[in-house]
Amino acid sequence: MDFAAYVRDIEDFPKPGVTFKDITPLLKNPQTLKKACDALYNFTTNLKIDKVVGVDSRGFIFAPMLAARLQAGFVPVRKKGKLPYNTVSEAYELEYGSEILEIHTDAIEKGEKILIHDDVLATGGTASAVCKLVEKLGGEVVQCNFLIELTFLNGAEKLNGYQIESLLQY
Ligand code: 5GP
Repeated sequence: MDFAAYVRDIEDFPKPGVTFKDITPLLKNPQTLKKACDALYNFTTNLKIDKVVGVDSRGFIFAPMLAARLQAGFVPVRKKGKLPYNTVSEAYELEYGSEILEIHTDAIEKGEKILIHDDVLATGGTASAVCKLVEKLGGEVVQCNFLIELTFLNGAEKLNGYQIESLLQY
């Protein structure tokens, strides 16, 4: 399956100078949606997974589908102020400024095996903050998987020591 044919480049989004990988063509096509889900699921062969953590907001598209197939639970990590219950938080640096991500304090039990999923691995700041949140709650990150890895931004370096998988690399 040529997934790349279903990802389009949007120039100057969300700001000038950025080329954004838009996955909505892949999502709206029934075959690529199903095959992408299958391929992400196949990355987890032989792994025991208790919870799938999805990252606000495009991580919420595939993470619950994966969780259901893995017979695991789904946990959302959200930007500051969006989760209603008690949270732990982690700040990380963006290209300009910083961002805070949060997870519910009761989302993960100590020792649980965690799959982290997001649509895109860019600089790795987001995913590495999510790994820290999971570990603050005593979870063990067994894999971080993505639809797309922008390898030229070296995000994998920030995730050194974690298993990383992606469907498409640029
Ligand atoms: P990072 O923290 O690795 O630099 O950025 C990853 C986060 O930004 C992910 O949550 C991802 O959704 C979003 N992101 C960054 N660049 C892109 C892009 O080109 N396309 C999409 N769909 N998301 C992106």
